[in-house]
Amino acid sequence: MEHKNGLLIVVSGPAGSGKGTVLSDLIKDKNYRYSVSATTRAPRPGEVDGVNYHFLTREAFEARIEKGEMLEWTEYCGNYYGTPKKEAEEVLASGCNLLLEIEVEGACNVKKVYPQAVTIMLLPPSFAVQEARLRGRGTESEEKILARLAQTKNEITHVGDYDYVVYNHDGMADKTAEDIRAIVRAEECAVRRQGDVAGSYFGSAE
Ligand code: 5GP
Repeated sequence: MEHKNGLLIVVSGPAGSGKGTVLSDLIKDKNYRYSVSATTRAPRPGEVDGVNYHFLTREAFEARIEKGEMLEWTEYCGNYYGTPKKEAEEVLASGCNLLLEIEVEGACNVKKVYPQAVTIMLLPPSFAVQEARLRGRGTESEEKILARLAQTKNEITHVGDYDYVVYNHDGMADKTAEDIRAIVRAEECAVRRQGDVAGSYFGSAE
């Protein structure tokens, strides 16, 4: 059987959707890899350059945009965020599925340049649960929490641009990761992704 490229899987979700937990479950599988984005925002305590993000200056980021080195990029809350193209292409060419955890505008941009991408919106079960999760963390000011909740209202308006919506219920991140694996498995079997099925079937029989 011919070697196939991996799938580009885009996951977006509002604060409190549990993206981090679900994606770390997925990348336990050797055929899933996580794309390390580039950003101009400052590292948070504990974040490591090259692991959480590639931390760049604005000048360095803009130079990479100029050279066409970003698969997609956006400006979000005053900082640039983007997906390095070369790394993404190498992972896909190796046959591994590549997970991009990006916000809604970036997700729409990916779909424009790479229509075969699979886009998934990950949501908490409800707005009330999301609010409870953000308050339960106890790490952010009331102002930040309200800003994140307001942002969710905008993000949700884009759900119709996505291929799938997956709900992440409390304490069920492993089941949520299973739902994403099921989506990916179904997409891998989609006829439109198979090329010339009859040709390769009869060709391989000879
Ligand atoms: P944070 O600063 O909290 O790490 O990320 C802020 C937002 O940027 C999140 O919604 C995250 O999904 C998004 N983001 C992270 N990396 C990328 C990227 O490479 N491209 C785009 N478009 N968004 C990203």
